Amino acid sequence: MTQTKSFFLMLAAVGVLAAPAARAQQPSPQPKPEETELWQPVPVVVTPAETPNAPPSDAIVLFDGKNEDEWISAQDHTPAKWTVADGLLTVAKSTGNIETRRHFHNYQLHVEFRIPANITGTGQGRGNSGVFLASTGPGDAGYELQVLDGYNNSTYVNGMVGSIYKQSIPLVNPARKPGEWQSYDVVWTAPVFNADGSLKTPAYVTVFYNGVLVQNHFELKGETLYRGKPFYKAFDGAAIKLQAHGDKSEPMSFRNIWVRELP
Ligand code: MG
Repeated sequence: MTQTKSFFLMLAAVGVLAAPAARAQQPSPQPKPEETELWQPVPVVVTPAETPNAPPSDAIVLFDGKNEDEWISAQDHTPAKWTVADGLLTVAKSTGNIETRRHFHNYQLHVEFRIPANITGTGQGRGNSGVFLASTGPGDAGYELQVLDGYNNSTYVNGMVGSIYKQSIPLVNPARKPGEWQSYDVVWTAPVFNADGSLKTPAYVTVFYNGVLVQNHFELKGETLYRGKPFYKAFDGAAIKLQAHGDKSEPMSFRNIWVRELP
């Protein structure tokens, strides 16, 4: 027997090499399930609509087919002069953009639109409108979710339907044919500014287009500018604006517009 081997045999004999398995396990204290239960604040009861896409009980209805009382001219704040007929709100291009009388911060928005079946034109000149998620003033670009014919209509992809204009390409293109009704469901988180006008937190947007996710919590880089790189300009609360685009294609229509303000 070597010296080493006998040394280990000796250790084994006195139990030094025995596994510590026999040592008693102290049970670790289990947290009680109640410790992670919250009972306050209780969410407000909201009655969902009976039919899909109809406003739930806490929505502010911006257009229900009857009148455009919730809308004013974005240029001079006189009453909106788009055409209300047959339950539709149709763009009257010569009267310019319209925006909500009310101002909003963070919200959920539902809006339906229809590119006319007889639409003509190409690219950005084919059924162009827009939902400006924050209209910050007549001279400002604001924050545009593009409306455009996207059914076999080629254009720059960061300016196609479902894009955040010139900032974010939609994830997919679920456009319906001209003549069919389409919908946007939007969650808008407004940007927040410090007292000195600098950006505190950016804007975020999530968009479902015809029920399909096309913008997933996208962080905006500022207003959606036609020319140049986007940047932020401070504002606090803003109208929602619909675009009367200057192209020559047939005017498009909106219906069933409602918004829910979020805390
Ligand atoms: Mg547009």
